[in-house]
Amino acid sequence: MLQQYSSSVSNSCSRDSHLCSVFLHSWGLKELQVATFNFNPLRPKPFCDRPSTSMSFCCVCIHENHHRSPRVRRRKPLPQNVDLPTQWPKKKKKPYPIPFKKIKEAGRADKKLAEKGIEKPLEPPKNGLLVPSLVPVAYKVLNAWKLLIKGVAKLLHVVPVYACSICPEVHVGQAGNQIQDCNGTGNVLRRSFHKWMKGSVSDILVPIESYHMYDPFGRRIKHETRFKYDRIPALVELCIQAGVEIPEYPSRRRSKAVRMIGRKMIDLGGFVDEPKICRSGDALAELDTYRCYSEQGNTPPASASDVRQVAEDTLEAYEEVRSGVATLMKKYTVKACGYCPEVHVGPCGHNVKLCGAFKHQWRDGKHGWQDATVDEVFPPNYVWHVKEVGGSPLRGSLRRFYGKAPAVVELCVQAGAKIPAKYKPMMRRDIVIPDGEEASLVA
Ligand SMILES: [Zn+2]
Ligand SMILES: [Zn+2]
Repeated sequence: MLQQYSSSVSNSCSRDSHLCSVFLHSWGLKELQVATFNFNPLRPKPFCDRPSTSMSFCCVCIHENHHRSPRVRRRKPLPQNVDLPTQWPKKKKKPYPIPFKKIKEAGRADKKLAEKGIEKPLEPPKNGLLVPSLVPVAYKVLNAWKLLIKGVAKLLHVVPVYACSICPEVHVGQAGNQIQDCNGTGNVLRRSFHKWMKGSVSDILVPIESYHMYDPFGRRIKHETRFKYDRIPALVELCIQAGVEIPEYPSRRRSKAVRMIGRKMIDLGGFVDEPKICRSGDALAELDTYRCYSEQGNTPPASASDVRQVAEDTLEAYEEVRSGVATLMKKYTVKACGYCPEVHVGPCGHNVKLCGAFKHQWRDGKHGWQDATVDEVFPPNYVWHVKEVGGSPLRGSLRRFYGKAPAVVELCVQAGAKIPAKYKPMMRRDIVIPDGEEASLVA
């Protein structure tokens, strides 16, 4: 009976008109009743809702697509122009990446468990064990990081980069910009013009360093013991803690999980001192923006025909590092000072009293630790976007027409790489910059 009906229904079921036939089977009736109603693909609700009557709702539809929630592929259009990144005022604490209310709630829940004497349930890597699925990600990030440094060093031979010798401003382009926003010492005498000098890899990839710890769950670094620990790029330290093996910078790999009650460690497998290793300067030669490529003389320039390809590869490496770091940071804890750029990779910050930022006297020079964001570990370092390469230098009066982009993106784009869609809104490519007489009329 059901089959007989379904075959007759199949003819009347039309995808275009969104008409769908449904059998209403009433247990009280011996016959099947057929009902037809309009089917809206965006609102598949009638299929899910049970009717309020005692009748059971049985659907026999021929197009199986009607049963699934219809997939409407709609690309979210990118905004035309977005606001430029603002600089966080120095006299203000950075916002918490996780709302403070949630941090407090989690703390309260931990305290409740601790009061009852129940151990805190910890999952890798919070319990000191590695996350096996993230080990390849860490290796990928490190390899992309090497390529990124090399690529930037090569492109610096082609695209001039200027750095202000007084403030952290960087400009990628043929001539330094004439935007009067330098707030470094003596800026009043210079009418806030920047004092440009030739830039290096470290001006494009801002170096963020952190202490290398053999055992991040071990003894906390104190102010007096700070010289026992090496400073290495925070990104490299994150990769080491996520499973990358660098013989000169070993890391303790546990086989037994760390146990905690509240904030107290109850079993961390004892303290183990770091094995003494003679470190040569070459270990981080390719991984440090300072040591090897600070002078571009170490890297040969890319040949004219290769420049475009190098730019594309460098941009790809940049995206890979960024997405990889974001993936690792979802699991591995990285702490950042809420007042200064200091970053620490590990479950809790260190006690070194070197914070000189806002209200450091109140903290006895200690950093105010909070969860780090990707931008703090791998800063985008926004620079002005130069629309016309080789054109007149950017002027302060026209700054509202200019866009910005991360320094690496701007460098690669000027070297010939295609602009990735996600950076276009901030680069403001569609805004026409006034020229000639028009420019002089802009207040
Ligand atoms: Zn400056
Ligand atoms: Zn600090």
